[in-house]
Amino acid sequence: MKLARKRLLNWYRANKRAMPWRETRDPYAIWISEAMLQQTRVETVIPYWERFLSRFPDVHALATADIDDVLGAWAGLGYYSRARNLQAAARAIDRDHGGVLPDDAETLQTLPGIGRYTAGAVASIAFDRPEPVLDGNVKRVLARWLGIREDVGRPATVERLWEEAGALARGPHPGDLNQALMELGATVCTPRAPRCEGCPVSQFCDARAKGDAHSLPIKARKKAARKVEAVAALVVRRGKALAVRRPSRGLLGGLWDLPGGDLAAGETPRAGLRRALRECAGLEISRASSIGTVEHVFTHRRLTLHVYRANTSTDRIRLAGFEGHRWLAPRAISSLPHASVTAKALELLVAPTAQPSN
Ligand code: SF4
Repeated sequence: MKLARKRLLNWYRANKRAMPWRETRDPYAIWISEAMLQQTRVETVIPYWERFLSRFPDVHALATADIDDVLGAWAGLGYYSRARNLQAAARAIDRDHGGVLPDDAETLQTLPGIGRYTAGAVASIAFDRPEPVLDGNVKRVLARWLGIREDVGRPATVERLWEEAGALARGPHPGDLNQALMELGATVCTPRAPRCEGCPVSQFCDARAKGDAHSLPIKARKKAARKVEAVAALVVRRGKALAVRRPSRGLLGGLWDLPGGDLAAGETPRAGLRRALRECAGLEISRASSIGTVEHVFTHRRLTLHVYRANTSTDRIRLAGFEGHRWLAPRAISSLPHASVTAKALELLVAPTAQPSN
């Protein structure tokens, strides 16, 4: 174990990729990077992290910001509950911890949105605490290295992996050690073709010795994403278009959207549009032109969105399933915080090649 730790640390120091959050010891900046990196690639995160920190440079700035500004800075990263939780946690830190990020994993886990992984990452990387991390990369490395041939989604296996990661983290430089494991999984011990000849722990690796690295870790089959069809429309009244705001909890919570909804089984998009607009906003439309469709994949849903342009003379909006609305110039909708799927629909609506069909 001691020799393996030493090799990992040496390998990490010689091979780590340049990332801006690796140049700082600011716990706040490290926390923001960890929140952004969950489910998102490093290259995507870098410009978001830089913009976010220049806009909200410390806990207090984030705690006192308008939530629309926070969601706007997050727009495009997906999983928007992360942005709302970041601000809720910043408020709790500002209120209960004098604006200073707690330095131990246990207290960090009492904050909104900070789970075992993020607490371990922040405590070890920012504060040198001997706390483990366990993400997809670390699971894969440990399952192969230690020859763990059980479903890594099973709670008992997950607990075993946490224990193994914990044993590794108990030693000098726990932050670097954790980052070494994650980096190894991202660059060498990759899912399909691990490059074992360049691996610092190859000498100790069970999967390499047995030749079954490619089949580890064992994962139970995931359910296929459900196919869903929905409709949305740019609904215009006297030159202004309607934007609706999603409830703060739930998928895409707090973001602005075009009004619409899911299609019922067997319903045509046009009939579904009239029904959905009536149900979600009390709107009656006089004309609807089909603009096209956009495809978007969420974690559990594969969405086909039928996009329309429509007119209405309805004055009174009655919202159901949304919690706010605004009438504004059609192009101004894109300046409100919105999700990637809405961005795709808005792009289609302004595209010069868009050919409305009745
Ligand atoms: S030797 Fe190969 S399979 Fe084992 S940990 Fe290293 S890269 Fe992964």
